[in-house]
Amino acid sequence: MDTTNIKNPDYFHKVVDCQWACPAHTPVPEYIRKIAAGRFDEAYMINWKSNVFPGILGRTCDRPCEPACRRGRVEASNLERPEPVAICRLKRVAADMKSGVKSMMPKRPSHYNGKRIACIGAGPSSLTVARDLAPLGYEVTIFDRDHRPGGMIWSQIPRFRLPMEVIDEEVGYILDLGVRFEQRHVESMKAMLEERFDAIFVGTGAPKGRDLDLPGRSEASANIHVGIQWLASVSFGHREQIGSRVIVLGGGNTAMDCCRTARRLGGEDVKVIVRSGFEEMKASPWEKEDAMHEGIPILNYLVPTAFVHENGKLIGMRFDRVVAQFDDKGRRKLVSAGEPEQFFPCDDVLIAVGQENAFPWIESDAGIDFDEWGMPRLDPKSFQSSLPQVFFGGDAAFGPKNIIWAVAHGHDAAISIHKHLEGSDLLDRPLAGMSLMSQKMGIHEWSYDNEILPDKRHKVMWADVEVTLKNVSMEVELGFDPASAWKEAQRCLNCDVQTVFEAKLCIECDACVDICPMDCISFVPDGDEADLRTRLKAPATNTSQDLYISKGLKTNRVMAKDEDVCLHCGLCAERCPTGAWDMQKSLIQMVHATELECSKRHAGVALVEA
Ligand SMILES: Cc1cc2nc3c(=O)[nH]c(=O)nc-3n(C[C@H](O)[C@H](O)[C@H](O)COP(=O)(O)OP(=O)(O)OC[C@H]3O[C@@H](n4cnc5c(N)ncnc54)[C@H](O)[C@@H]3O)c2cc1C
Ligand code: SF4
Ligand code: SF4
Repeated sequence: MDTTNIKNPDYFHKVVDCQWACPAHTPVPEYIRKIAAGRFDEAYMINWKSNVFPGILGRTCDRPCEPACRRGRVEASNLERPEPVAICRLKRVAADMKSGVKSMMPKRPSHYNGKRIACIGAGPSSLTVARDLAPLGYEVTIFDRDHRPGGMIWSQIPRFRLPMEVIDEEVGYILDLGVRFEQRHVESMKAMLEERFDAIFVGTGAPKGRDLDLPGRSEASANIHVGIQWLASVSFGHREQIGSRVIVLGGGNTAMDCCRTARRLGGEDVKVIVRSGFEEMKASPWEKEDAMHEGIPILNYLVPTAFVHENGKLIGMRFDRVVAQFDDKGRRKLVSAGEPEQFFPCDDVLIAVGQENAFPWIESDAGIDFDEWGMPRLDPKSFQSSLPQVFFGGDAAFGPKNIIWAVAHGHDAAISIHKHLEGSDLLDRPLAGMSLMSQKMGIHEWSYDNEILPDKRHKVMWADVEVTLKNVSMEVELGFDPASAWKEAQRCLNCDVQTVFEAKLCIECDACVDICPMDCISFVPDGDEADLRTRLKAPATNTSQDLYISKGLKTNRVMAKDEDVCLHCGLCAERCPTGAWDMQKSLIQMVHATELECSKRHAGVALVEA
């Protein structure tokens, strides 16, 4: 097998499972260590640089990092149910406990560079574009049909999950960079193009909620609501109550927000009814738990067949019970159980069965190509449309996702806009920067805390459910207190502190092999990867994780280490008599438009060995 090139930043980046899985590649273990050290301002700024909205995301992120977290696969003290580090809620700790971060942020530029950028839609993707470009002197204006910026972060996510002050604070940091916000419903792309902006970013989201065209829909429409429109009307303060019996249709996060909001607006008997099974529901496990914790039952395998009304007054819904059947290829089909239809009485129905994109304001002859599904044709790396000065991002680019993906798109689109306006190649993307620093402090002493604590995941505090159900704006989760935040931070395994092996120092004494608690290390004759994986001290079965292969050793063998289950405990490096192993921190940092000029000067990848 080829010798591993540890100077390729992607190699060690992949070992930091959480950072690799985060669409914005937030350096998670670095900020977790800052939290453990009580350095909350620095922890906040590490987040702010990567994900722009630490306080917002620390409450709402879809957390793709957590299923990837190493602790979730190696936690020996909790083997029946290993649990990831509470990465997301630790982010919130940084936001809640910081003291003052304004002075650490880029300054509003003293003058504009003469280039004007329009961002249409004021959601997280546009706000990220603005945050990345404003410090470079671009004159950025964000347009939104709503009266305040934030997009779905404020219009859809309910206040009991995300207080308005948190949104205002983090949107404020961006506007303070000299970004203009203007309330304007953009109704024509051609008119926008005539305003001669140097570049236009379209971040208008996926604003259309799907409806259900079933018998009774039009007759009983007064009490049937499309979920995302209904949630927006609650956020706008236009709607303050709902009937006491409510059915919510759909199994995603929007359905969970609808049912919990309905409970707070007078719904006493609120139930979620889903056509698929509980495990297949799109809602995150914690969103389902939160809803059930508030006394909301989730009924599965029921397909709606009709809205039932009496003279136009909704009285309930009918459902057909289905069962899952699998064909020989394992594909699932829902088929009727053949039972009489079930009737559920209700006063209101909230339809939360999906969102769609809609660009009625982009004329077909505006020069922007769309595919057969009505989505813009974009370069997947640069987000550039067929009209070179127009870029898309967030939910408007590839359909509904989430905030952290909108941020990641925003970073990428900002780089593309900057490159487009300076006339450089949009597909020449900046490489991540990486520095490697030894953590050695003494003979058996490291500058990171390498003790593996057996603690199970610590729980965040919650407000009393009976109290929160009476107030739609009262935040339910209260976050970690400082003591439990510290304990949770200690669960992190510091996956960015890498085992670095120097073949020429190795005397093949096997001391590291013997001490390693996870049997990660083997000295074996070389071979191809599939073969090597079977010949290690413990077979390396998780092929999504790399093998670290050294140069050839004196005995013609190689050192092969399975990165999959390494605890980053440093015992191999402590035991090694020749210092062939060292624990080195790999700090991997993405380059955003704001840092592009600086990274050009430093030629992309920096490798600092200390
Ligand atoms: C109910 C619900 C709950 C959600 N909860 C979460 C969550 O907990 N965590 C998470 O990560 N994601 C969540 N999401 C998804 C998340 O909100 C979106 O993925 C994200 O906000 C998309 O960002 P965006 O930048 O694409 O634009 P959006 O946030 O969608 O904002 C688009 C903006 O464009 C404006 N706009 C549209 N058309 C025009 C026009 N023609 N002229 C001017 N302005 C226009 C809209 O008014 C809107 O403000 C949720 C979504 C919903 C519906
Ligand atoms: S243990 Fe820590 S560094 Fe490793 S994946 Fe989990 S949060 Fe990230
Ligand atoms: S750091 Fe070294 S001893 Fe510890 S688990 Fe990883 S390879 Fe084994």
